[in-house]
Order: sequence, then structure tokens, then C-alpha cells
Amino acid sequence: MPEIKKILVANRGEIALRVMRTAREMNIATVAVYSEADRLALHVRYADEAVCIGPPPSSESYLRGDKIIEAAQRLGADAIHPGYGFLSENAAFARQVREAGLIFIGPSPESIEVMGSKLAAKQAAAQYDIPMVPGTAGAITDRTEAKQISEQIGYPILIKASAGGGGKGMRIVGKPEEFDEQMDRAVSEAVSSFGDGSVFIEKYITSPKHIEIQVLGDQHGNIIHLFERECSVQRRHQKVVEEAPSAVLTPEIREAMGRSAVEVARACNYFGAGTVEFIVDEALNFYFLEMNTRLQVEHPVTELITGVDLVKQMIYIAEGKELPIRQKDLTIHGHAVEVRVYAEDPATNFLPDVGTLQTYVRPQGNGVRVDDGFEQGMTIPIHYDPMIAKLITYGQDRAEAIQKMIRAIDEYRISGVQTTLPFCRFVMEHEAFRSGKFDTHFVSKYFTSENLKSEPEPFVQELAALLTARFMAKVPASRPPVAAAGTTSKWKSRGG
Ligand code: ADP
Ligand code: ADP
Ligand code: MG
Repeated sequence: MPEIKKILVANRGEIALRVMRTAREMNIATVAVYSEADRLALHVRYADEAVCIGPPPSSESYLRGDKIIEAAQRLGADAIHPGYGFLSENAAFARQVREAGLIFIGPSPESIEVMGSKLAAKQAAAQYDIPMVPGTAGAITDRTEAKQISEQIGYPILIKASAGGGGKGMRIVGKPEEFDEQMDRAVSEAVSSFGDGSVFIEKYITSPKHIEIQVLGDQHGNIIHLFERECSVQRRHQKVVEEAPSAVLTPEIREAMGRSAVEVARACNYFGAGTVEFIVDEALNFYFLEMNTRLQVEHPVTELITGVDLVKQMIYIAEGKELPIRQKDLTIHGHAVEVRVYAEDPATNFLPDVGTLQTYVRPQGNGVRVDDGFEQGMTIPIHYDPMIAKLITYGQDRAEAIQKMIRAIDEYRISGVQTTLPFCRFVMEHEAFRSGKFDTHFVSKYFTSENLKSEPEPFVQELAALLTARFMAKVPASRPPVAAAGTTSKWKSRGG
């Protein structure tokens, strides 16, 4: 069995660090790659060795598989971990890694190929008894026929790009008259964004939850699932708040979804860590959406409720080891919630707001995990995803995890950029979220920028507190105390 001694991490930011930390725990050396925009990045400093692979645009750096493989060979790495995004779901890259005599820490190129196409994935899964969203069986070639099918399943329908991802390549069609126009747009977007114009139709589930199952498979045919994550709080079809377990699944449905997920994985001879995504309707019927053949952004919530280090398992699996965990050994302990801290302004419909982190202080304490890639003073590059951090809390139950999250959000001090944190706090306090009765339309249903408490930024608050303290020191004791404008008790020192 090949033992991995040095891993090149073909990624940046929090996920590069997250992978390297586990590698270090396993006494595996690490190599970072970086673009010119990331010279000072934390993943570069954390790694044992680091190689610059090109200019800032990802097409010239983090997507340059050839340069990455060359760096791995030159520095004697024996494996490459792709993280998420970038080359993680690129079958050609996985194949080139293998052909270069290196280990790709992920599934086989063949599995990535099947699951990379939403249509091929559905066709593979259809051979098993996996529930599917009603829709077209294959890519649309005949529009008249596609319109007939849409009438049959009933509007609204969703036109989806087979090669789509990251919440892109989807168009809702509300009524037949809109069909042609939306179809034209969907196809041209699919071509321009994914280089593949294949689209298909799914019934648009009007009030769905997004619930996904984490799977792990080894190279000996053992596949297990590690329960679900609920990721229904989304903006632009992209997740912002995730949790495990879901607040609404019954043990029976959990078990049925887990079984289906394992079957989907089996349908493509899957090994490695993967996620099978389902859409769940109001009656808790679940339908297969797609499989992501990589480590997922929100994997920490699963790690917290199962105690399994998913990266460690990925490395063992890549070495050819048998899964040390059996399905029957797994149970859910407690509850975990993750919020994604993006440099985006919730007040302007989540427009990116990249800039310099003038203040950056992480929350700490029992049950708080922060996965990030920045320090105070660093600038968030405009070239990549504007995620600053993932804030994850763990509690004995859901209520405790949520309370810890609110406390942690209040402690998190970021200034210089707007972030999704105030929005996430709003979610944590919202009755719909707390009761578990929410769907993927949480944002459009409940959120407006007026919901954001207009609190001054922490550093302004600190300055105000400092000035108040100075002022108070000078005024005679008989005068009534003057509160600093806009400070809230939250940020006032309790001791003094
Ligand atoms: P997850 O499914 O792990 O929650 P996301 O859907 O948010 O993750 O995607 C993870 C990362 O991968 C994001 O940076 C996203 O932009 C990127 N991504 C995923 N699929 C694609 C794709 N097909 N094309 C471009 N980027 C993608
Ligand atoms: P991506 O590859 O972009 O992640 P998915 O198929 O996983 O694409 O869908 C992303 C999100 O879009 C889902 O989480 C859900 O919010 C929404 N969505 C996808 N399919 C449907 C559907 N048939 N009905 C309603 N919403 C859907
Ligand atoms: Mg998806």
C-alpha cells in the first residue's frame, strides 16, 4: 500500500489550511501552491514548502493543472489534495495526476466524469430505485417535446444546465409563454459558463429544503454515509447557513436518504468523500439532485456531530486502506451549525464587498470552530470567492448550537468590509429558522436590509468607548454619566 508522505494542496484559503492541518497531524509534509495575489496568504506560510504557480487570475494559477503537477513532481510530493472549487471536480485533472504517477486524494476520474454531468448522474442513479424530481430523462433536443413534458409535469419548471454548478445555470419558467425565451437564455448561459449547452427540465419544487448526505467509500467497495446536512438557507441558490442534523428529518427518512445516497455512490463505484444532494418537499418526499465528488464547504458540521475527520479518511482511502468505520458504529452526537462569512453586503442584495480587514478578531470558546484564511490587515483578493471564514458552533442540541452561534457572531469583530454575519445573526434569531420550518426561500420571504440592526462597526464602538472613558475621567463625579453615542450593552465592558 502506498503511504503518503507529502501532500501538495491544490487550493487556497481556509480549505488549503484545513487540509494541511490534518496532514500535519498525520506527520505528512505539505506543499502549498499560490498565485501572485496570495504571496502573503496564510496557507503559504503554514505549508512546509510553497510554490508560486502564476498570476492572480485562477485560469493562470489555481486552474493550471499542468503547473501544479509539475510542482508536485519537482518537490517530491506523492499526492495532491484538490480541496473544493478549482480543479476538485475536473476529471481530466484527476486523470493527469494519476498518469503522472501521483495519488489524487479524491474519487476516480471515471466517477467524477459521471457525476460531473447532472444528466449522466441521474441516468446512473436511475438504475437503482432512487427518487428523482419529475422531468426530462435526458438533454433537450426537441423543444416541442420539451414543452409537452413541461405541461405534463406542470409549471413552474426549472431549466438546468447539465454541467452547471455553484448555483449557476438554472432558470425558472413560470408559464408556457416564457418557455422559449428562458430556454434560449439557459442554453446560451450554459455554453458561455460551462462550455456545454446541454440542458434538461425538472419540476420546480416550490417550497423545498436542501438536504444532503455525506458519504465515504474506500477502494474495496465499502461505502457508508455520515448522516445529513441541511443547507436550505441560501442566496442565489448558494448556501450561507448549514447544520447537522436537519431539524425536521425523522429517523426513518434519515435512514432512507442515507441508503439512497449510498446507492448513488455505488452507482458510480465511488470512493473518497462525496456528497449526495437531495431536494425535499413539504411532505418530506426527497428527490436526488446531484452528487458533488469532493470535500464540501460545509463538511465541518458533519465532523462535529460524528467525530470523524473527513480529510483524514480521504487520505487513508487514497492510500488504499479499508474504511475503519462501519455504518453501525456511527451515531449522531449533538448539533452543529455553520455560517459562511462572506465579504458581501447583505444590505445590497449580497454584493461582494472585498477590501482590507481593518479589524479581524475571531470568536473563541467552548464549541466554537473558525475555519478561515485571513488575519487582521490582510486584503481579500478580488480574484477569488469572497468567503472570509466559516464559523461553526457545536452544542448538545440545536438550541444550544444556535445560542452559541449568536454569542460567537457577537464576538466576531470584522471591520473594513461588510460581511454576511449580521444576516446570519438575523437567521439565528428568526422564528422560522428556530422552529425548523424554513425552505430555500428564507431570504426572499423574510429578509430585507431593514432587518439589519444598524450598529456601528466594532472599531467605531471601541473608539467611542475609549473617548467616553477619557471624557468620564475628566468630568466631575456629580455629573450624570454620558453614554457613548450608539454603543450597545453588548460591547460595553462589564467589569468596569
Ligand atoms: P458546496 O456545494 O461545497 O457547499 P458550493 O456549491 O458553494 O459548495 O461550491 C463550492 C465552491 O466551488 C465555490 O467556490 C463554487 O463557486 C465552486 N463551484 C462549484 N461548482 C462549480 C462549477 N461547476 N463551476 C464553477 N465553480 C463551481
Ligand atoms: P448546483 O450544482 O448549482 O449546486 P443543484 O442542482 O445542487 O445545483 O441546485 C442548487 C440549488 O438550486 C438547490 O439547493 C435548490 O435551492 C435549487 N434547486 C435545484 N433544483 C431545484 C428544483 N427542482 N426545484 C426547486 N429548487 C431547486
Ligand atoms: Mg448542488
